[in-house]
Formats: sequence, C-alpha cells, structure tokens
Amino acid sequence: MSSAVLRNEASALPVTLDDIRAARTRLAGHIERTPLAPSPSLSARLEVPVWLKLESRQRTGSFKLRGATNAVLGLDAAARARGVTAASTGNHGRALAHAAAAEGIRCVVCMSRLVPPNKLEAVKAEGAEARIVGRSQDEAQLEVNRLVAEEGLTAVPPFDHPAVIAGQGTMGLEIIEDLPDLATVLLPVSGGGLAAGTAAAIRALKPDVRIIGISMERGAAMAASLAAGHPVDVEELPTLADSLGGGIGLGNRYTFQMLRALLDDLILLSEAEIAAGIAHAYHQEREVVEGAGAVGIAALLAGKIGSQGPVVALLSGRNIDMALHHRLAGGERVDIAALSPAAQELR
Ligand SMILES: *Cc1c(COP(=O)(O)O)cnc(C)c1O
Repeated sequence: MSSAVLRNEASALPVTLDDIRAARTRLAGHIERTPLAPSPSLSARLEVPVWLKLESRQRTGSFKLRGATNAVLGLDAAARARGVTAASTGNHGRALAHAAAAEGIRCVVCMSRLVPPNKLEAVKAEGAEARIVGRSQDEAQLEVNRLVAEEGLTAVPPFDHPAVIAGQGTMGLEIIEDLPDLATVLLPVSGGGLAAGTAAAIRALKPDVRIIGISMERGAAMAASLAAGHPVDVEELPTLADSLGGGIGLGNRYTFQMLRALLDDLILLSEAEIAAGIAHAYHQEREVVEGAGAVGIAALLAGKIGSQGPVVALLSGRNIDMALHHRLAGGERVDIAALSPAAQELR
C-alpha cells in the first residue's frame, strides 16, 4: 500500500468526518465517553508514551454499542414501529438489543442452535427476543432476511453499514480530543467497522498518524482480503480473539474499501501473544479484556509495533468467559483447539 494513493482515496470515503460528527451529536447521552488512560508499564517498556482507550468499559462491554445505537437512532417512526434484527449473539447482538430496548423498539436476535446458553441469556437479559434457528450463522442470517422481507424489520449488520461505521468512528474523535499529538493508533480488525470509522476520523483530523490494524493469525479474513485485493473467505478457526472471527462478506460494500485506503499496516498475532496481552491487561493495567480487546497491548508486548509515540491502543471489549480469563491471567497455557468452535459463530 503506498501512502500517496492512500491519502488521495481517503477524500472519497463512503463515511466522512461530517457523518462521524453527526453520530457523535446523536449518541450523546446514549453511550459512555470512555477514558483514555496512560499505561506506565507499557510506556516504560516501549520507551514512548502509551495510552489505552478503555472502550472495554463501554455499556454492554464493547464499542459495538456505538454503531448499533447510531443505526437505531437514525430510524424513522415507521421503521421503529416494526423493529430491528441481527444474526449475532456476540457483542453486536448484545449491543443492538440494548440500543433497541433503550428506545422501546422491538429487537429480534437470530442465532443457531449451537449458541452457548450464557450468550443466549446475555441477549435476552438486554431485552431482545431470541430466535433459535438452524445450526449455523448462515441459517440464522436466512431468518433475518425473512424477518426483513415478510415482517418489515430493519436488519442492522455488525460492521458493513454506514451508520454503524460512523458510530464506531466517534472513538476516533474522542481519542484526538484527549491526545492531539498521538503518532500511532492500534485498532483491532475483524469485519472492519471499528477500524474504518475510527481511522476515518483520525485520518481526517491528523493525516500523519500511523494507523495500524491488528488481527489474529488464525482466520484473519480482512488481512487475506486486503492481500488478495478483493474480499475472500478464510477458514474459521477457534481463537482467543473470538470477537475477531468470521468473514468480511464476499459482497462487502464499505469496510474493505475503507481499510484499503486508511490502514498503514495490518499485523497478525499468535494465540500465545494474545494470551500474554490479556494477562498483562489484568495484572499491570487492572483491566479485564477479552482476546479481541487485548490485541493492541499484545502487539506492543510482542515488539511488533515500531517505536513512534505517543501510541494509543484501543481496548475494544471485555466480554470474555471469566473461567477462561482466570486461567489465562494465571499464566496457564490454554488449548486453543479445545475452545468451542461455535465461538466462531458468535460475533
Ligand atoms: C466486533 C469486535 C471487534 C472487531 O470489530 P470489527 O468492526 O468487526 O472489525 C473487536 N473487538 C471486539 C471486542 C468486538 O466485539
């Protein structure tokens, strides 16, 4: 990726700084403005100032509330009366359920029969209807399509949607406000909504910031797609960064194009590196984060990020099984292959 090309393309992105500013105004009072906290331990280790954007403390436990809420608040009265739906039992499903309940809107979260009971309960606890269909994420998605076609619900996808991307982008505005002189920002990447929105805001306001995406080695669909030059599928594998699993959609419309224009680099991490990030977050930063939320810290610990500071690592979520967290924090080597393969269905 040559940066001359990157900067030119950035002016024609489908989600603009104005869209993200509008999302910020709309979201005020509906989400937490999360803190940017210095990390003395990582700053000492890297010999540059390192800051952590504590989005793990967002309501519902992840940043996904920003995009989901922005999409819900943008619906007209008729769409509100009919409700929203998604095929996600992970952080997006939880966030959409919360956003809809806060507005008194019906929300149907479709999920396969393989969903673990705790994920099912988390969605119900946020006030959504859970609809159990089929044995895969694809079959759950067919039910979403049916609800849209036959009952007029609005589907709110987890990443490839302008209102969702703009909502996630509000993190970029907050980071720049809190640390105007940042040099490098580290963003977890799965479907790319987080990185597309946040990078669009940062690139527009501070064009020289290095924007680095981070995924896991096991099943990084966006990395494979960027390398191929078009969206591709990859085999899904169990990973500690379960919220980063899943494809980007072969018909991807927004995030692939945006990340191609906005990312300076996309680096991949091993499971051992991610585990070390979770343990460090807990012992040194006193933060519980899930695997996807720990990848920025993990990349710094692994020496995979050059020393241009100040550096901001975005901690994207904290919804990890606490028994697993306990083992990882204790330094146990966890057998990744033994993690539920169904976890891959659950973004
Ligand atoms: C969804 C998610 C991500 C990845 O976000 P994308 O917009 O899909 O790239 C990262 N971290 C957590 C905790 C998530 O829930």
